Amino acid sequence: MKSEIDRCAFCGKTTKETQILFESLEKRTFICDACISRANEIVIEQKNKNIGFDFDGELPKPSKLKKALDEYVIGQDYAKKTLSVAVYNHYKRIFNQGDSDIEVEKSNVLLLGPTGTGKTLLARTLARVLKVPFAIADATTITEAGYVGDDVETVLLSLLQNADYNVAAAERGIIYIDEIDKIGRRGESQSITRDVSGEGVQQALLKILEGTKAGVPPKGGRKHPEQSLIYINTRNILFICGGAFDGLEKIIARRLKTSAIGFTADIGENIEETYNLFRHVEPDDLIKFGFIPEITGRLPNIAPLEELSEEAMIAILTEPKNAIIKQFQYLVGLENVELIFEDDAIKEIVRRAMERKTGARALRAIIEEAMLPIMYDIPDKADLIKCVITKDVIENRTEPVYIYNN
Ligand code: ADP
Repeated sequence: MKSEIDRCAFCGKTTKETQILFESLEKRTFICDACISRANEIVIEQKNKNIGFDFDGELPKPSKLKKALDEYVIGQDYAKKTLSVAVYNHYKRIFNQGDSDIEVEKSNVLLLGPTGTGKTLLARTLARVLKVPFAIADATTITEAGYVGDDVETVLLSLLQNADYNVAAAERGIIYIDEIDKIGRRGESQSITRDVSGEGVQQALLKILEGTKAGVPPKGGRKHPEQSLIYINTRNILFICGGAFDGLEKIIARRLKTSAIGFTADIGENIEETYNLFRHVEPDDLIKFGFIPEITGRLPNIAPLEELSEEAMIAILTEPKNAIIKQFQYLVGLENVELIFEDDAIKEIVRRAMERKTGARALRAIIEEAMLPIMYDIPDKADLIKCVITKDVIENRTEPVYIYNN
């Protein structure tokens, strides 16, 4: 009917009153641009409200969390248990907020342990299992506001970006802060890092650890007055901090020595002892190490990580869901070639990695170096069905054993 005026079916505005009227397949039903924008806003609002966890409606119990961690991280049982309980309590606290007069404090976690032993991996895996946004920050790049470097807000920006700018999701995320030991006031490394780190940075970190509403510049960079800010409340963000804490074992040993009989003067000299000493850490030791008391108060769960043994390194190469060797086998498998690592080859990779003293970090580099020429050659080899990596390949860069289909 020609006489009828085209109108938005939602707000009733006519063609003249709107910029665009979209017509539906069902002719003569319209929606205007303004209603589309508003609908879009509502969709985003709802998504923000509903954002939760993919727990199948239920928060996983600590034992289930630990099991999930076991699939990706080798060993480190004590740290896994500490984290699982902390995370369980953390999200229980969030879900039951306001239900009681008792205010449960946040359960941020501090991981103590040598480099390459799985601290970051644990934090990342937890976020993955819980399906919450995750970000990593390096404490040494954080500076007091006003200095050149990153403000603490930059840390939050990265979480927000990883949450696709969904503020509600970011506010329940996990942030891993690496090298937290380097901002101790009197830490041994003080002299080699910039002197802007230290107490000022600790104060800045403290604010986001305990919960604050921080204004984050959405595009990063320095805050300036004209820029609109996105506000993030850090109250429910779980912070996992990690560091090697070289020297802390001596502080603990000294304390234990004065209170217990039987400790010798050279305590803390070997790695196993360091781990055992870390198990006894108390907030006072961290304060002696250089932390302000308020920070230690905000990191109530402390767990040490063990140095990785040869067996653990072998397991890391072969067992986790995304173990490095499995990744290479998958890639080579796509060329219809079976990739086999002989046990001696794996042991040689581990031996070399242990020499580098960077934990499991060196494993990937060593395998990649050895595999590069092989990955280069394989696609050109017609009828190849098997490629066997022997110790010689790792040790002397010889060719692997190639087996063909004829
Ligand atoms: P850091 O303790 O320095 O944070 P990372 O967690 O970053 O160490 O570990 C570096 C890499 O080494 C990880 O990406 C992972 O592949 C491997 N890795 C380290 N520790 C473990 C572990 N316990 N189990 C499995 N893989 C590990």
